[in-house]
Amino acid sequence: MSQLNKMTKKSYIELNKDEVSSLIKELNESQFRAQQIQNWVFDHYVETWDAMENLPMNIRHELSARLPLHPLEIIYITDSENASTQKILFQTQNGHPIESVLMYDQKRTTVCISSQVGCAVDCKFCATASMGFIHNLSTGEMVDQVIHLQRQAKSRITNVVFMGMGEPFLNYSRVIKAAEILNKKMGFGARRITISTAGIVPKIRQMAEENHKYKLAISLNATNELSRKRIMPLTNTYSLKSLIDSAHYYYQKTRRLITFEYVLLKGINDSSNDSKRLLVLLQFLPCKVNVIPYNEIGGPYNRPTENKINAFLDSLKHAPFTVTVRWSKGTEINAGCGQLAVHADT
Ligand code: SAH
Repeated sequence: MSQLNKMTKKSYIELNKDEVSSLIKELNESQFRAQQIQNWVFDHYVETWDAMENLPMNIRHELSARLPLHPLEIIYITDSENASTQKILFQTQNGHPIESVLMYDQKRTTVCISSQVGCAVDCKFCATASMGFIHNLSTGEMVDQVIHLQRQAKSRITNVVFMGMGEPFLNYSRVIKAAEILNKKMGFGARRITISTAGIVPKIRQMAEENHKYKLAISLNATNELSRKRIMPLTNTYSLKSLIDSAHYYYQKTRRLITFEYVLLKGINDSSNDSKRLLVLLQFLPCKVNVIPYNEIGGPYNRPTENKINAFLDSLKHAPFTVTVRWSKGTEINAGCGQLAVHADT
């Protein structure tokens, strides 16, 4: 079997440099075609081989006969009422559903992409957990979410966050490769790419050692071992203490600030004792804290009242770290943080 036959199923987006080069060779074409194709895909976001106008017709035909351009297909787009958010349902080539979210605000257009189909981490407040772990997305499948969304978007995408379905650090090397492509081929500054982890401690240390410039976010969500174990069973494997130690290590190595996400759950982690413990926990660590009022997913948890949310924020007013609030967008179309889940029956 020729190398090309073996990769007929693989789409162009998923080919590495050598594979693209052998593809061009097998077409008896000169290597500058590789750059032309790359421009069409990563700068113009074309949907089909046929749209690559500076390639001779016969090459376009040959390419479309040999391999698909994109590994993902858009199945469905849902718009929020005020048009600030779109949720996009994709299908992978082997039939898995994944979701991404496109969000507009005044200054930024952000895409939230998935790194896995389902998730193994089992956070008790997150809808994706109900799917269980199904599949790791390939680097191409992650990058393709951004390409499709940029074609779809009303404005230039400014930020990419790995905060959709899945735990990026349980698919670490592919996620880092996807971030590299977004950075090098699509022109997203490294600080405009955020990778959010539930707290896979060895990978936080690895990211520090490898000195990647992408932003790191850690979903903290609790202020002591016991309450974190209840809502994030992953804490049984990687304790809160080891997580905070790894965050110190990350800061010492990179001098880059971590953002701690803190999903605020009524009666679970929203007390004044929690905010006091949070201050102690993070007191010697330069960082930011992003409070996310819980988005309903129909489980046992609730969002605290607005008064309670404000009281929690107030108690952090003099914190040494910056505190921001993320009022999730698109909750009415289940596109808010933690609301992404696709089941066979939906
Ligand atoms: N697995 C990664 C990325 C996906 S979750 C992680 O845990 O960081 C992205 C963010 O959404 C996390 O901070 C998570 O704590 C938060 N989240 C999950 N479920 C939520 C919900 N129902 N309401 C609000 N935020 C939620």
